[in-house]
Amino acid sequence: MTITKDIQKIDSAHYMHPFTDHKGLSEKGARIITKANNVYIWDSEGHKIFDAMSGLWCVNVGYGRQELVDAASAQMLELPYYNSFFQTTNVPAVKLAERIVKLAGDNYSHVFFSSSGSESNDTNIRMVRHYWASLGQPERKVIISRNNAYHGSTMAGASLGGMSYMHAQGGLPIPDIVHIEQPYHYHLAPNQDKDAFGIEAAGCLEKKILEIGADKVAAFIGEPVQGAGGVIIPPKTYWPEIQRICDKYGILLICDEVICGFGRVGRWFGSQLLGAKPDLMTFAKGVTSGYIPLGGVVISKRVAEVLIEKGSDFNHGYTYSGHPVACAVALANIDILEGEGLVDKVREETGPYLKQKFAELSNHPLVGGAESCGLMAGFRLMKDKKAHITFDESLEVGMICRNHCFSSGLIMRAVGDRMIIAPPLVITKAQIDEMMTLIYKCLDATLKDLQSMGVMQKDQLSINAA
Ligand SMILES: *Cc1c(COP(=O)(O)O)cnc(C)c1O
Repeated sequence: MTITKDIQKIDSAHYMHPFTDHKGLSEKGARIITKANNVYIWDSEGHKIFDAMSGLWCVNVGYGRQELVDAASAQMLELPYYNSFFQTTNVPAVKLAERIVKLAGDNYSHVFFSSSGSESNDTNIRMVRHYWASLGQPERKVIISRNNAYHGSTMAGASLGGMSYMHAQGGLPIPDIVHIEQPYHYHLAPNQDKDAFGIEAAGCLEKKILEIGADKVAAFIGEPVQGAGGVIIPPKTYWPEIQRICDKYGILLICDEVICGFGRVGRWFGSQLLGAKPDLMTFAKGVTSGYIPLGGVVISKRVAEVLIEKGSDFNHGYTYSGHPVACAVALANIDILEGEGLVDKVREETGPYLKQKFAELSNHPLVGGAESCGLMAGFRLMKDKKAHITFDESLEVGMICRNHCFSSGLIMRAVGDRMIIAPPLVITKAQIDEMMTLIYKCLDATLKDLQSMGVMQKDQLSINAA
């Protein structure tokens, strides 16, 4: 088909992609995604692909939902845009704020809107510092985050994030943002008791607070389950201990719920599952299932009261804060999540089913540390899992596996040697089976490659091939 070649040529001439090596891309040509339905996407060559990543963790209700199209189109006709500056408001933004506060629970009273996760985390930084300044403690500025965290790609978002390859470009992190170790048990302490490790990992926060001085620390930020870092699921002891430490020193807790929020882990928010009660929650992605950009911050009563009583003007906001079309789509999206019981379905049916399938996956010779939380899951490709030996980084084993996924019609993401999935919440058990068959196929092909490269022994047969 010449359409593909034509578009690829214009693409490499004019379209600068996010997070992309352009030299490599222009040699190969980008894959052009042309349509989508339910959990599937299609490329311009007519290949059907199982999207086990929900786009970028966002298409929670699946592709092709007419309800969301109708909500956007009706709102565009009625009122396509108006801002919330200068003492004005609009009905979808008001209704959505009320609805999100209800889903978040008693602890919360307000919502601030933006158009993305990155912007929302910028808002968080300014909001927590403004909070402390309003209380007469302007020296409380430092925000503690974690290694390998992902909080977005703006100056503030990437600074909060703990990705060293992002810090390496653009002079990051910005001042007064520091990082502690992540709770990645399988990587950091596979032989230690998991719960004990959770307490110890959370203890890094207390150490850091004491090192800096509690009177200088504004907040701690963390994803309930780390997403882009490789679906790192913390031990169950971790978040309650983090909460205890934040309470002890009066430090604000920010949970970045951009991935975990809106049903991904079988609750409306990940913190509700993992035992934290954050003062602020970042959301984006799943709030509109990615059909239109929207993000924001859910604000606790503790923070809102100070901002309202003592904060005077908060000199911050975006042209598209509370965009009526985005908010109307979010309301329709929440209608679907509720109407189809998708959050309960993840908690009671598909989440447990995926957990069982991922436990079985551990029988594959390449698979170590397979685990899931709701509908996000990951495992690490291991050279010798009994002896806990990883592959040489230069082999880029994750890339080998990901390339097999691409050519087999499966979107599974590689983070180093960790392979991760986060399928749409509408996925059925039969589709989970279909996805697992594809995963085994790609693992077997990867194993075969590694055997012919002489990296793995030939006698290690996959359970599938056996
Ligand atoms: C994707 C993501 C962000 C950034 O969201 P954008 O909409 O890309 O700015 C922030 N935090 C987490 C946890 C994310 O996964």
